[in-house]
Parts: sequence; C-alpha cells; structure tokens
Amino acid sequence: NKTLDVIIIGAGPIGIACGLEAKKRNLNYLIIEKGPLVNSLYHYPTNMTFFSTSEKLEIDNIPFISNNPKPTKREALEYYRRIATSNELQVQLFEKVEKVSRKEEKYEVKSSKATYTTKNIIVATGFYDIPNPLNIPGEGLPKVTHYYNDPHYYAGQDVAVIGASNSSVDAALEVYRKGGNVTMIVRGKSIGERVKYWVRPDIINRIEEGSITAYYESELKEIRGNDIKISSPKGEKVLPNDFVLALTGYQPNFAFLKSMGITLGETEKKIPTYNPQTMETNQKGIYLAGVICGGLETHKWFIENSRIHAKIIMENINS
Ligand code: FAD
Repeated sequence: NKTLDVIIIGAGPIGIACGLEAKKRNLNYLIIEKGPLVNSLYHYPTNMTFFSTSEKLEIDNIPFISNNPKPTKREALEYYRRIATSNELQVQLFEKVEKVSRKEEKYEVKSSKATYTTKNIIVATGFYDIPNPLNIPGEGLPKVTHYYNDPHYYAGQDVAVIGASNSSVDAALEVYRKGGNVTMIVRGKSIGERVKYWVRPDIINRIEEGSITAYYESELKEIRGNDIKISSPKGEKVLPNDFVLALTGYQPNFAFLKSMGITLGETEKKIPTYNPQTMETNQKGIYLAGVICGGLETHKWFIENSRIHAKIIMENINS
C-alpha cells in the first residue's frame, strides 16, 4: 500500500481540473468518484442548458467547442469525458469515499472498495447530493422529486413546482410546453431575481396570461395522494395534484466535512473553514475545491470562478 501524494474526492468539473493539474506536476494522484464521471452534471435535467458560455466552462484552457452560445448538458458531458479519457486521468468511478482518518502526518482514506494512504486530500464533492427538505407530511411519497429530469413524463398531469429559482422556472416552462398543468408555489412575492435574464420575461408572461398558475407568498403544507394543501395570502387551499417537483435547492454534505475535522463558520451560511490563499482547511493537508467552498451559499461558486482552485491547491501541495 504505497502512499499517494494526493487523493481527490469527486470527479466533477473541478475534481477533474485538480487531476489534470496534479498530473502536470507529476504527482502521484487518484480521483475517487462515487458515481459516473461528472455525476452531478449527469443528473441535471435532460434539456438543461448552461448559463455560462462554453469558454467559461473550460478547464486547463482546453477548448470547449459548442455551436451554441450556451452549451447543453450533452455537450458538457462529452467535453469533460474527453478530457478525462484523452489525458488518461487516474479516476476510479462508482467508488464512494466513506471515511478519512489522520494517521500521523498522513491520511487513511476508506472507500466502498479499498483503503488508501495519502499525504494530501482535495475535497471536491460539490453540493448536489443532498436536497433541502420540505419537512412536511407526504414528502416521502413517490410522486415527489427533488431532481427534475424530463418534461414528457408530465404530459396531461397536474404538476406543482415548488420554488421560483432557475431550476424551478426551467422545469415549469418545459412541463407547461409539453402539456402539463403547472402550478408554481412561491414563497416570495415574485419570480426570483437571479433567474436568467433571458428566461425571466418568458415565465412572467406565461403567468400573466394564465398559462401557468403561480401562488406567491404561499407555502406547501401537505402532500397527499391526489392533492396538495397550500397556505396562501387568501388562506388555505387544496389543489388537485399528480406530481410535485420540489426544486428547493441542495446543500453540501456537512456531516462528511465535519467527520474529517473541518470546522464550519458560525453564520447560517455554514461556510467551511479554509484559507483562500491556499484552499487548505483547518486540517493540514486537506483542501477544498469547487462549489463545496460556499457552504449553504451554493450560488456563490460555479465552474467559471472555481476552476482556478486546482492551480492554487497544486502550487501549495508542490511547495
Ligand atoms: P460537482 O460537479 O457537484 O462534483 C462533485 C462530485 O463529487 C460529484 O460527481 C459527486 O458524485 C462526487 N462525490 C460527492 N461525495 C463523494 C464521496 N463521498 N465519494 C466520492 N465522490 C463523491 N455552473 C456554471 O459554472 N455554469 C453553469 O451554467 C451552471 N449551471 C448549472 C445548472 C444547474 C441545474 C446546476 C444544479 C448547477 C449549475 N452550475 C453551473 C453549477 C455547477 O454545476 C457547478 O459549478 C459544478 O458542477 C461544480 O463542480 P464541482 O466539481 O465543484 O462539483
């Protein structure tokens, strides 16, 4: 069991960027991924289009050729896969990292398949695994999902979309256009301010013309077999319902971070402790990369502004 220089946990875009950087520096590295390559991306909605233009999704200056101003999920899957295969990155897929323990100056990493020893660890685990729960009765029913995939499934059905952020709005519009009867349940007074500027007018017009129903300042209270109960400024309402798309956001695996001894900030954002100059956490030799750095502020980091973490970390590991 030889000691690795670095284990990268997660083969998302940023984990892959870290792998490329480690390879360039001749480090003995391994990327361990619990699902398929770029697992989060793989599970995004079928028709998802990035809000970033392709050059902003590039890692290590490897050109991302797309014929569209904003690349699609399929194009991005192809891009990151080609990077991993053409560069023969050391990636092990469908292997989950379960435990990290310090062994003197090194770390022991236990996965679902093996045990490794490494000098350094990069946690690039993203935030897409754990959906923010609704904490209401009926949430566990099979008609409820936190991961929207394809609109055709919902043709002719009464579909409640919870939330008014980008993913909710995209889902509401798609399902409506494939013949679903869409009702949006929105906690705030309007459609989210961060909704893509080219999509916002579309959803607002569909709501104003009555094609999509929106209940503002409203909350889902209970989900039942054939209906849902909501609270609205006009009191409680029961609406017929076949499916609930609870697109209320996701959160990083804080328990996993804590199990490694990484502390979280005092504020409600729960930002993990790290030094922005090196990306090293309060645990020597454990680094953070990618969107995990934002804690509950999951919109703060994305590919465009976190791909740089790979270089910062490797410079520090090398020195
Ligand atoms: P992720 O891509 O989430 O990768 C983390 C990886 O770690 C996953 O593959 C996961 O399976 C793996 N993992 C987790 N735990 C373990 C474990 N214990 N063991 C092994 N592996 C583990 N960003 C942009 O820059 N532009 C966009 O246009 C854009 N659009 C988006 C649209 C949607 C719908 C969503 C949800 C996000 C979007 N983002 C966008 C954000 C973007 O997805 C993230 O910036 C990007 O995926 C972050 O990469 P990452 O490598 O940090 O994390």
